[in-house]
Amino acid sequence: MTQAQHSPTPSHDSPLPPARGAALSRRHLLTSGALGTAAASGGLLLSTGAAEARSGGGGGRQGRLPRKVDVVVVGAGISGLVATRDLLRQGLDVLCVEARDRVGGRVLNHHLRSGGVIEAGGAFVGPTQDHILALAKELKVRTFLEYNEGNSVYISSLTGRQEYSGTVPPDPTILPDAAILLTRLDSMAAEIDVSAPWSHPSALEWDAMSLGEFIRRNALNSSGVGNLIKSWTQPGFGADPDELSLLFVLWYVACSGNETTVGTFSRNSDTANGAQESRLIGGSQLIPLRLARKLGDAVALDAAVQRVEQKDGRVVVRTSRGTVRAKRVVVACPPPMVLDIDWFPRLPVRRTQLLRHMDMGQLMKCDAVYETPFWREDGLNGFGINDAGAARAVFDNSPASGDPGVLLAFVGGSTWRKFGPLSRKERRAAVLEGFAAMFGEKALKPIEYTEQDWTKERWTGGGPTAFHAPGTLTDFGPAIRQVFGRVHWAGTETSTYWSGYMDGAVRAGRRAALEVGERL
Ligand SMILES: Cc1cc2nc3c(=O)[nH]c(=O)nc-3n(C[C@H](O)[C@H](O)[C@H](O)COP(=O)(O)OP(=O)(O)OC[C@H]3O[C@@H](n4cnc5c(N)ncnc54)[C@H](O)[C@@H]3O)c2cc1C
Repeated sequence: MTQAQHSPTPSHDSPLPPARGAALSRRHLLTSGALGTAAASGGLLLSTGAAEARSGGGGGRQGRLPRKVDVVVVGAGISGLVATRDLLRQGLDVLCVEARDRVGGRVLNHHLRSGGVIEAGGAFVGPTQDHILALAKELKVRTFLEYNEGNSVYISSLTGRQEYSGTVPPDPTILPDAAILLTRLDSMAAEIDVSAPWSHPSALEWDAMSLGEFIRRNALNSSGVGNLIKSWTQPGFGADPDELSLLFVLWYVACSGNETTVGTFSRNSDTANGAQESRLIGGSQLIPLRLARKLGDAVALDAAVQRVEQKDGRVVVRTSRGTVRAKRVVVACPPPMVLDIDWFPRLPVRRTQLLRHMDMGQLMKCDAVYETPFWREDGLNGFGINDAGAARAVFDNSPASGDPGVLLAFVGGSTWRKFGPLSRKERRAAVLEGFAAMFGEKALKPIEYTEQDWTKERWTGGGPTAFHAPGTLTDFGPAIRQVFGRVHWAGTETSTYWSGYMDGAVRAGRRAALEVGERL
C-alpha cells in the first residue's frame, strides 16, 4: 500500500460551505484565562496558526539526501524533531528522516469546514508537563483552558443520567469503591521509581496482574467501578483494564508528574489541574510544524527508513529517498514501527521481545461540529462519561474561540473493537446518539462530523501510546533505553515522565540527544 493510501486526513462531512473564519469570543477569553495571550494578538494567532498549518506537511529538504551526516534521526514526530533541534544546537550535522509527507506523527490538526482547527491526535496539556509547555512557549504557540465551567454528565445503565462536578461521578453503587481504589492506586504509584518500575519489591506480583484483576480483587461492585475506570483507560491507553498490567498502570500514574511533583491519578485524569487542563491555540500540530520550519533542510519527508546497518564503526541508514551514513542514529518512532525496519545486526533479543510486547492501543477520535457549543448554555461543560455505547468518554473539543462548538468522543479499547469495524454511517449514528443522551436532541444534528482512526495509520499503528500487557514490563522493560551499538532510542514511550504524552516525547528527544552528544 502506498503512503498516499494511508493519508492521515480524517474523513468528514458537512452540508455547509467551507471557511466561516474563527471569531474570538470575548466571553470565552475572559472565562478561559486566554486573555493576554490570544487577545494580545487580537485573535491573529488563531488565523495565523490555521494558515500556517494548512501550508503543508512541514517543508523540509528537497532533492537528494546527503551521503553522510553525524546523526540520523528516524521519525519527525515531536520527539524526533526535538532530538534533531538539540543535536543541531550541539553543532552536529543532523538529518531527520520521516516516512510520512508531513511532520507531527501522532499530533495532527484537522481544519473544520465550518472554520477553526481541532486536533485529530494529541491535544491536551496540563500542569507538570513542563517540557511541552516550554517548547510551545519557545515556538509562540499559546495555550487556552479547556472549557470546564458547569457540570459534567454521567450515564449509568443502572442509575440513569446524572449531572455532577468533580472527578468521580456521585454514583452510590460505585463511589465507595472508586474512592478506595483511586487512593490505593495513588499510594502504590507513589512508591514506583519512574525510571525503573521493574525494581519495586512487588513488581513481579503487580506485573503478573491486570488492572482489571486488581479491581475485581479489591472492589465490592467490581463491574460498576471497572466500567467507570474503562472510561479512563479507553482514551488513555486505547485498551481495557483487563489488557493492562497493573504495574504498567501504576508506573503511568507515577509518570503523571515531574521531578518535584509526585504523579497522581487525578493529575492524569482531570481537566482542572490535570492532563486535560489546556489545549493549544491553532491546534497542537503547530508545534511540530513550527519546529520543523526552523530546522529547514535537516528534515526530510517521504523518507521511510527501511534498513539500519551497523558496520565498520558507522551506521548505514537506507530510506525510500536514498541511503545516508552516520556516526549515530536516534530512533524516534512508535515501538511496533521499529520492528518493521530491517536491522543488521539483528536487534538484541530482549529489545525485540520488548517491542513485540508493546502493542499500540486501539483508538479513534470522533468529532461532531455544531453552530454553537449549545451545552454550555445548559450549564454543562461538555465532559461526559457513559458506561455503554460508542461515546463513553466525551469532551468539549471546540476551538479556543468556542466557535463552532465541537463534541469529541474517544472510541477506544473494546469500544473501538465494537464500533470501529462498523460502517462510518453506523458509527456516526451511534456516536451522535451517545452525545444526545448526554446533551439533548440538538446533538443529533451536527453541521459536520469527522473521525480519525489511528489504528489505520501505517506509520503509527494505533494510539495514543504503546502499552504493556501483564508480565512484560518486568521481563523486558529494562531494555527500554538501552543503547544498541550506535543506535539510541527516543519517542514518548521511552520517557520517564509523561510517557505516552507530548511532554514525554519532548523529554525523550532531549535525553536521546544528550546521550548521543556525550558519545560524539
Ligand atoms: C488519538 C490520540 C490522542 C492523544 N491525546 C493526547 C493528549 O491529549 N495529550 C498528549 O500529550 N498526548 C496525547 N496523545 C499522545 C501523543 O500524541 C504522543 O505521545 C506523541 O505525539 C508522540 O510523539 P513521538 O514523537 O514520540 O511519536 P510519533 O508522534 O508517533 O512520531 C513518530 C514519527 O516516526 C515516523 N516513522 C515511523 N516509522 C518510520 C520509519 N520507518 N521511517 C521514518 N519515519 C518513521 C512516523 O511517521 C511519525 O511521524 C494522543 C495520541 C493520539 C493518537
